[in-house]
Amino acid sequence: MLPTELSKVEQKDAVYLLYSNVGMGLFITFITSTVLVLTFPHDGAQRVSQMLWWGVLNLVLLLRFLDLGYFFIRSRHKESFSFQRALTRFTGGALLTAALWSLYSVMVVYHQDWAELAITCIIIAAFSGGSVTFLSASRKMSMVYCALLSLPLAIALMLSPIENYDTLGYLTIAFVFVMVTGASKAARYTARSIHLKHQNDHLLSHMEQEVAKRTQEIYSLSNIDPLTGLFNRKAFSEKLEYRLQTQPNAKLAVLFIDLDGFKTINDSLGHETGDQVIREVSKRIQQNIEPSDLLCRWGGDEFLLTVEQHDQLLEDAQEIIDLISIPYVIDGSKLSLGATVGISYYPQHGTQHERLIQRADMAMYNQKRSKKGQVGIFDESLREHLLREIRLRDHLENAIHRHELFLVYQPIIATETGRIDSVEALLRWRLDNEMIPPDEFIGIAEQYGFIRAIGLWVLGEACLAGKRMQAHHEGLGVSVNVSIQQLLDDDFPEEVAATLKRTDFPAHCLDLEITESLFAHDKHRLINNINRLKSLGVQVSIDDFGTGYSSLSVMQEFDVDFVKIDRSFIWTMDTGGRAIVEAVSQIASAFDYKVVAEGVETEEQRRLLTNMGIEYLQGYLFLPPVPEHELMQHLG
Ligand code: C2E
Ligand code: CA
Ligand code: CA
Repeated sequence: MLPTELSKVEQKDAVYLLYSNVGMGLFITFITSTVLVLTFPHDGAQRVSQMLWWGVLNLVLLLRFLDLGYFFIRSRHKESFSFQRALTRFTGGALLTAALWSLYSVMVVYHQDWAELAITCIIIAAFSGGSVTFLSASRKMSMVYCALLSLPLAIALMLSPIENYDTLGYLTIAFVFVMVTGASKAARYTARSIHLKHQNDHLLSHMEQEVAKRTQEIYSLSNIDPLTGLFNRKAFSEKLEYRLQTQPNAKLAVLFIDLDGFKTINDSLGHETGDQVIREVSKRIQQNIEPSDLLCRWGGDEFLLTVEQHDQLLEDAQEIIDLISIPYVIDGSKLSLGATVGISYYPQHGTQHERLIQRADMAMYNQKRSKKGQVGIFDESLREHLLREIRLRDHLENAIHRHELFLVYQPIIATETGRIDSVEALLRWRLDNEMIPPDEFIGIAEQYGFIRAIGLWVLGEACLAGKRMQAHHEGLGVSVNVSIQQLLDDDFPEEVAATLKRTDFPAHCLDLEITESLFAHDKHRLINNINRLKSLGVQVSIDDFGTGYSSLSVMQEFDVDFVKIDRSFIWTMDTGGRAIVEAVSQIASAFDYKVVAEGVETEEQRRLLTNMGIEYLQGYLFLPPVPEHELMQHLG
């Protein structure tokens, strides 16, 4: 059951309803009263009171009309407009009008003009009827209005000595009763309508809010990265494309920001810490951008940023890298990260968002390979580079089966005797008559997961060849390069053991060369696997020493047999390289490892290295890497 009492807001509506209905009523009242006064002019003193009545009534009508205008002008524009006072004014005006009509009707009863009485009664009845509808927004008022309008007439009629007037009076009483009841009912009905309308309005606005909320949720789900609150891939692509289409003359730059070292944090400290770091990184990037820039989290540890091209762009990009590189303090521990940025320009490097993003990615990828932690800009050669990489990747997968891979061997010379002590097996790939350098394809094999199979094949081939060569050269050692991914594989030591067994190659003649940068990886697993290899009797070398990150203390954690000083130091011995070579060779005896100098190309280098006491030499000066049969000629 709906209440008949209206709330404050609903009352406003009721007052509106009253005022919007009243205009016509005022006009009709003016017309009726004027016609009445003109049609039935009274005589003498009565004429004066009749005109006085007309004057007062129209004054009231004028005031009510002014109030009507005031209401519509002020209620719409003034916040503090009092609807309660408006209602009081309205009620006052309406009841005064009713009282004046009532007064007139009583006057007519005493005037004793049947015709005028009949007309007046009709007018009173009409106004009563009208009020039931037009005043229904206020129950009390419409009831009082009806009563006030006709009750005095009814009483005057009943008290009148004139014949039949009393009957008319009784009829009028009945009429008053019907009208007042009708007014009450109509008012209740109106109140309910107003109430229902409000309930609907409320429901509607509630629904609208719900819909808006849902829309926002759906938008968030499909456009916002939940971890950082940044745009996700989809939203970024759409917004970038929209911008390219709506502002084709803009000059933009797409920055591909990729974190360096995030995977280590995530793997070693867990995803929760990783998430915290990502959130912090996103905050730092946001600090450094303009509101018009477009930023998103592209993937795990990748962010994309679109900015206007400007003179300071490269400095700004480097600033983002520097900002990301400030250590993070998470749960009391200090973590370090870096970032590499690749940039592509619109429209120079592409006009579609996919292409711009792909090229910024290529620039980043390439930059990462040459020097991490810096900004790289896309250029056309990168594109060709990538196409070639894809071609190599597709062929490398089946290179073993298609017999495109083979090994060459380069001797390692004992400095003192000048004899070949061992050989390093180096992998070669001939693809459609083109020799693909290992520096190019080993990386691809590692990246696409072929290196473990290839590495195992190399190991088997090298051991078989080693066995054959040992027939000519007793105790000849064979060095095999091992990739980090092989070493991280817990099955690797067993595979090595199985290979040695299968090829019947003595373990102590096998030397595994490990690139020193591998120490940046999961140290415990590596050391564990290396120790397992060592327990097989296999020897271990640190390759390319001086180019990576390993410290001598790390090397101490397992027994290294050889350290191979990178050829770049051998070639620069007349400048800075010599100090390194000397330092390594000096500590060598303390740590009990032997030193191999790689890339020896000149007699001068040989002389210097011999004087420094370097035990082993390798390089073109002695022999370049050659096929097995060619090497055989140098053995014995
Ligand atoms: P690395 O292990 O440092 O191999 C030595 C590289 O130096 C070889 O290049 C060799 O040809 C070259 N070299 C030797 N003496 C000289 C010299 O006097 N002057 C100059 N300029 N270069 C010299 P290569 O064969 O192109 O191999 C490049 C790299 O590819 C190797 O570097 C090694 O890291 C990797 N690699 C080669 N074979 C394998 C393999 O079977 N498995 C793995 N995982 N990596 C391999
Ligand atoms: Ca090597
Ligand atoms: Ca090397």
